[in-house]
Amino acid sequence: MAQARAEELRRLLNRAAHAYYVLDAPVMEDPVYDRLYRELVALEQADPALIRPDSPTRRVGGAPADGFTNVAHRIPLLSLDNAFSHDELDVWYGRLLKVLDREPQEGSPVPALPMVGELKIDGNALALSYEHGVLVRAATRGDGERGEEITANVGTIRSVPLRLELASPPAWVEVRGEAFIPEATFAAINAERVEQGETPFANPRNACAGTLRQLDPKVVAARGLSFFAYTLHLSEDWQAGAQDPAAPRSQWQALGWLKAAGFRVNPHCALCPDLAAVKAFCDRWEQERRGLPYATDGVVVKLDDLRLQGEAGFTQKAPRWAIALKYAAEEAPSRLLRLTCQVGRTGVVTPVAEFEPVPLAGTSVGRATLHNADRLAELDLCAGDTIVVRKAGEIIPEVVRVLKELRPAGATRLKLPPTCPECGSALVREQGEAATRCVNNGCPAILRGSLRHWVGKGALDVDGLGIKLIEQLVDRGLVASIPDLYRLDAALLASLERMGDTSAAKLVAALEASKQQPWHRQLYGLGIHHVGEVNAKALARAFASATTLEAAAQAGDSGEGPDPLTAVFGIGAEIAQSLRQWFATPANRSLLQQLGALGFSLAAAVQDPNAAGGGGPPAPAPLAGQTFVLTGTLPSLSRSAAQALIEAAGGKVSGSVSRKTSHVVAGEEAGSKLTKAHDLGVSVLDEEGLRALLGTDPT
Ligand code: NAD
Repeated sequence: MAQARAEELRRLLNRAAHAYYVLDAPVMEDPVYDRLYRELVALEQADPALIRPDSPTRRVGGAPADGFTNVAHRIPLLSLDNAFSHDELDVWYGRLLKVLDREPQEGSPVPALPMVGELKIDGNALALSYEHGVLVRAATRGDGERGEEITANVGTIRSVPLRLELASPPAWVEVRGEAFIPEATFAAINAERVEQGETPFANPRNACAGTLRQLDPKVVAARGLSFFAYTLHLSEDWQAGAQDPAAPRSQWQALGWLKAAGFRVNPHCALCPDLAAVKAFCDRWEQERRGLPYATDGVVVKLDDLRLQGEAGFTQKAPRWAIALKYAAEEAPSRLLRLTCQVGRTGVVTPVAEFEPVPLAGTSVGRATLHNADRLAELDLCAGDTIVVRKAGEIIPEVVRVLKELRPAGATRLKLPPTCPECGSALVREQGEAATRCVNNGCPAILRGSLRHWVGKGALDVDGLGIKLIEQLVDRGLVASIPDLYRLDAALLASLERMGDTSAAKLVAALEASKQQPWHRQLYGLGIHHVGEVNAKALARAFASATTLEAAAQAGDSGEGPDPLTAVFGIGAEIAQSLRQWFATPANRSLLQQLGALGFSLAAAVQDPNAAGGGGPPAPAPLAGQTFVLTGTLPSLSRSAAQALIEAAGGKVSGSVSRKTSHVVAGEEAGSKLTKAHDLGVSVLDEEGLRALLGTDPT
């Protein structure tokens, strides 16, 4: 079993490495490669008899490409070992202390060795040789022993000095560092490639590798590569001139030497006195890296003292004195356990993939929705498949694709069932529709969904009516509609599982109190397709009651004159159509009648400032027609307060950034929405800017 799996992983990883290092066209995401690689390492460590000479765990990078002269490195150019958590960093440090014979005695503190934290630039390592201060050779890493000679190409990179700025340059010096393509340039290169019908590069690192291997240096010059230097190998007998920095004894001094010699050194590095400081540096950059104009995929931690580095030495593949702490993966492989189906309150059936839980961007994830039958077919999912899972926007888990190479032989293809898993009635998919639906109005899943929606936070907000209780009420036939909730009596409720007299009485009181919720919440609670919280507010503001809204829907249906529904900002044709359909359905009109009879106003209270028809002149709406997205923490306004202010001024608040967004209001620790705003060129405001638009001051 282990042998077969190791064989399978070796085959897959070697193919991926060839695609990545030689063809510059990866066939899988880096974190997926890393996970599978570590699985192979674990198998080989558990049973060294499984190790083969062609295992990717034995090799650095890929073989040098054809078309360039192949040169031997003066000093091997190795890879880096990876750590994926603070705990793994501790393990590395413990091993380092052992190699250096500095393990602490029982009970004594762990010795602190100064270390340098540097950003791990996601580019390509280069070895630059200078003789008597002049660049004579530049080579790629290749397989670590031999690389491709690309001096002419590297000569076009402006941040690589052709001559060192030293008064007394050494007879030879080898400088290593990372060539990379800034994100903006990367986007431009890909846009051009797409225009010319070429496949875009998967990431800036592959784009950079592809560029360095161009046979025409003019193309390289046009691509705007840059270079950060981070390693120095100096001829031992070098004597510094009067203006020159002394020969370094530490990595920190080496970075200073490189700067003085004219290299660009990444400014975001730190000399850390101990491991705690290293961890703080890593945590900080895991967040702040998003604001950098180039890609980084972790932090490289290096023992500062060069003499100790020499003592620690190397493994076959990497130095023992350094480690790369990779940022938390947002993508990972996992094994599919089963496909289940969820029936929503509108009857839409959503396929859900349940898989072996994997840590993703800080949480454990074990299920992801597959949206609809088309997506399921597109993924081509089979039982037992290995899938790649991602957290889209760092929040919602999603299945990106299937690693078909790892598919078990004879696996069966997975499809949506023909009948509803809840009520057994045949599922329907209308032509031209993406959704497959259960159209049985009596389906318990649809009823449960609409009840849950009705009592939910944004709607009637009824405390004490959770999913479990709703399930009991529906399963026992006690509730068959929303109005039935208001006909429940306390004694009956008290007799249900995990209920008592007090909770039953509280629930009855909470239901009674919910009748006073404002009109826009009642409207949202009805669960009309496309009428979310934002649209419900806009509609409630424009139409003061269910009666006027129904009249507007009918007026629009007549086709005479402009549609009063679409005249409302934010309400488009699709929403208007959905409203018309809803009001045209007799069961829905009966629902409104029953709610009215139970004491729901289904209308704006006179004093409700959100609603029209409240008397007096309409409030000024300086933000009418504008859409806002909020991200991060604002200095003095909570998110809901900011939203309330925007909406009161006629603006709309949306959850996602698009080209149509008028402004993104960003506070501290703003996330991917801010990045997207920058990418799309959307205006970004801080709290002060928002207040200026609102015409309020911060008091
Ligand atoms: P690596 O990228 O994990 O780390 C070593 C490299 O880090 C060095 O060679 C250097 O180029 C770079 N680096 C950046 N900043 C540095 C700094 N400040 N100091 C020192 N080095 C710095 O190792 P690798 O061997 O180049 O590549 C392995 C990685 O490549 C894997 O972790 C995987 O993510 C990726 N990979 C992906 C695929 C795929 O199919 N997607 C295939 C093979 C490899």
